[in-house]
Amino acid sequence: MSACSYSRPCWLQWTACTPDGRRRSTRPDEIATRVLNTEPASSEGFSSLSIPTHRGSTIVYPDYESFAARGKHQRHEYTYGLAGTPTTRTLQNRLTELESAHDTFLTPSGLSAITTVFLAVCSPGDRVLIPDNVYPPVRRFADGVLARLGIVAVYYDPRIAAAPIEAPERLRLVWIEAPGSTTIEIPDFGRLHTLARTQGALIGYDNSWATPLLHRPLEQGADIVVEALTKYLTGHSDLLMGSISVASEELACTVHAYITSLGLGVSPDDCFLALRGMETASVRLAHVGFSALWLAEQLQSAAPVDEVLHPGLPTFNGHRCWRKRSFGTSGLFTVVLKPEDLGAFRRRFDSLSIFRLGASWGGTHSLLAPVFLDRERSLDRSYARKPLLRISSGLEAKEDLLEDLMGNVFA
Ligand SMILES: *Cc1c(COP(=O)(O)O)cnc(C)c1O
Repeated sequence: MSACSYSRPCWLQWTACTPDGRRRSTRPDEIATRVLNTEPASSEGFSSLSIPTHRGSTIVYPDYESFAARGKHQRHEYTYGLAGTPTTRTLQNRLTELESAHDTFLTPSGLSAITTVFLAVCSPGDRVLIPDNVYPPVRRFADGVLARLGIVAVYYDPRIAAAPIEAPERLRLVWIEAPGSTTIEIPDFGRLHTLARTQGALIGYDNSWATPLLHRPLEQGADIVVEALTKYLTGHSDLLMGSISVASEELACTVHAYITSLGLGVSPDDCFLALRGMETASVRLAHVGFSALWLAEQLQSAAPVDEVLHPGLPTFNGHRCWRKRSFGTSGLFTVVLKPEDLGAFRRRFDSLSIFRLGASWGGTHSLLAPVFLDRERSLDRSYARKPLLRISSGLEAKEDLLEDLMGNVFA
């Protein structure tokens, strides 16, 4: 007989004996059943401050009737791991509370939260208004995927002083991202809201820059708010996740149906990290908000600097508007440098000691992102060919950050 047969794993071929040579009374493969059926320890008396991580794909039912009725379950019940576990629901509930929302849904990234909103609410023939300074992957999504589905993206100039926006026919969604990606514009919110309401369109808002700690769009009339939880809310550059919070049950049903049809879900382990990270978000935001504004003020007078784009600076276009709507500013801002050749610009990043070069933001480490907006904008060309530097202040001491910048990038 060969060492292993298909019907019996090789470690079960021999009948082990007790030390005195007698055969054991239990079947050797009984262990295979036992290993699956040990009772879990009781959690009674274990009251911890940490949110438990509940993992699971399958939900088991106590009897035939409850199994047969599982298709009739409501959104908030447990039916399958993809539809949520107590850990994912805890994160959803926390965000619902922070955003003053009706309900919240989680997606695998901030970008997928945005694309899910567009796909869930729009139909072929609809038009959507998107700001010219939108997070660039959203523009690529709109011009590619939405266009193929017959959903037309119309771009608007988000600058307060821009010409009035003309409402296209069949307007379904007005998208707002403020402060805008990289160039931090604050739009005229009142005008956008009036436009959406008179056309019967929805207002969707990417609130990743401010988070609900600094700004709550649903309290100010938006219908849907998206957060890239990847950034400040989870805050440690170690996971990707997005959230969609909605203002009504009707929108909750629309978004939930779409997410369920696509099979989108997030890992309970990531939700645990998100819940933990969020506990310190207010302290982190207060710290980075303070150092970023201080850095912005200091950098205004540095020799290579043309302009500092930060909504906390009283000279910034939109400062008063943002002050009225929000509770403060976060740690992300941008510096426009005076034009110079690419070689000289590159050399500015050769010997940084604290700042790291990286495309994301919102974590504990300070990051720099050199940016050129040559192809990202179709309306506002004022930044074309200008070297921009996006700065994400982390939790380091602000004096050390300034020294690193002044000694290298702004030398
Ligand atoms: C990073 C970012 C996103 C996307 O978040 P990911 O989780 O990285 O997909 C969306 N909106 C804005 C404004 C962002 O900066």
